[in-house]
Amino acid sequence: MLTDNFNRVIHYVRISVTDRCNLRCRYCIDGDFTFISHDEILRHEEIIRFTKICADLGVNKVRLTGGEPLIRKGIPFLLKELSAIEGIKDISLTTNGVYLGEMILELKNAGLKRINISLDSLKKERFQFITGVNALDSVLMSIEKALYAGLNPIKINTVIIKGFNDDEILDFAKIANNLNIDVRFIELMPFGDAGLWDNSHVVLSHSIEEVIRRQFHLEPLSPSGEGPAKMFKIKDGLGKIGFISPVSSHICAECNRIRLTSYGTIRPCLFSDIEYDIKTMLRDGSSDDEVKTRIMNIIKAKPERKKEIGYIKKCQRSMRHIGG
Ligand code: SAM
Repeated sequence: MLTDNFNRVIHYVRISVTDRCNLRCRYCIDGDFTFISHDEILRHEEIIRFTKICADLGVNKVRLTGGEPLIRKGIPFLLKELSAIEGIKDISLTTNGVYLGEMILELKNAGLKRINISLDSLKKERFQFITGVNALDSVLMSIEKALYAGLNPIKINTVIIKGFNDDEILDFAKIANNLNIDVRFIELMPFGDAGLWDNSHVVLSHSIEEVIRRQFHLEPLSPSGEGPAKMFKIKDGLGKIGFISPVSSHICAECNRIRLTSYGTIRPCLFSDIEYDIKTMLRDGSSDDEVKTRIMNIIKAKPERKKEIGYIKKCQRSMRHIGG
């Protein structure tokens, strides 16, 4: 078992397969948006080996993320290989949804059972404003296809930003009410070069919850079983509502994860810029046991918690680098 210095068992690895993305979400990009060269990005076989080693250490859950994972070639192959690793019980993917519809059967056949889709506006112009691309219709079509293909659960993650989409909270809640889809509201984190929206644009979860409760009856689900999300059932609704509160609450005590960045470092804590190289060992002939020891040592360096409640220091890297 992988245990850190604060008795947290780490059984979940989020793997960023690329720093590239087909969208340019304003709170996610860096000013110059340079890409990491292909040579520096972990190859599929390196990701598979890393995951096998982690599975040996007790990891049972993997999520592919990015950048946009679906723009990397061979993702169905990677999913298939990762699903086949002994000990990996849960494999999922986080996507902006633009290419999901056209790949859905391929992904399903590769073993994908569930999906997280990021979507911040249901209005065409706003979607284009925030992502830089006119692709809302593709995302909505993908959601329909995911439902039709029987992926379950389907989760929509929505970052609420004051003055931008806070008037759409109920529209998103209605999706969870009317469809078998979980909608999770995420507090905006001041990462990367996201100068456009500072702390004054953060809408805290309790304010979002208040708005939803004006129209829907929320029943807490306990235990929520969703990692950092606080989950609620909507009375008489089909889906669930969740709140992920990286800014307003300490989600650190329950943290069960590490991140593998696309360029081959392990980031033990989302809120700390300290990362540890693992790519060199994956490339220099080190044995699995040596890599294992290194991973175990890195886990021991996982910080106990982010520093303050109600505030997050600005991280140097944007989410597309870290792997959201
Ligand atoms: N491209 C994939 C997607 O769209 O889901 C995966 C990567 S994306 C960086 C993952 C998630 O990070 C998205 O849900 C996005 O909204 C979230 N994210 C990125 N920057 C954020 C920020 N500054 N605050 C809160 N969430 C953020």
